[in-house]
Amino acid sequence: MTVKCRGCGAPVLWLKTESGKSMPVDPEKVMYWKVRGGKKRIVTPNGETVACELSGDLQDATGMGYVPHWSTCPKWKDFKKK
Ligand SMILES: [Zn+2]
Repeated sequence: MTVKCRGCGAPVLWLKTESGKSMPVDPEKVMYWKVRGGKKRIVTPNGETVACELSGDLQDATGMGYVPHWSTCPKWKDFKKK
């Protein structure tokens, strides 16, 4: 189920993470490469948050996952202030 982001109006999907929290993510799955100390975060369909990079060698891709919406939302910072 997707809902609209209150900040930018983009469709977001709410995923349950392993810790039981709901997290808004972009609805399109992207390929990710699991990297220790990676700067990006991906939430897997199982709700696991993974440190990763979003580019790399296709053959070495770890899998498909969701990008947390806070990393792509242009309005997310405004939100946090409120
Ligand atoms: Zn947004």
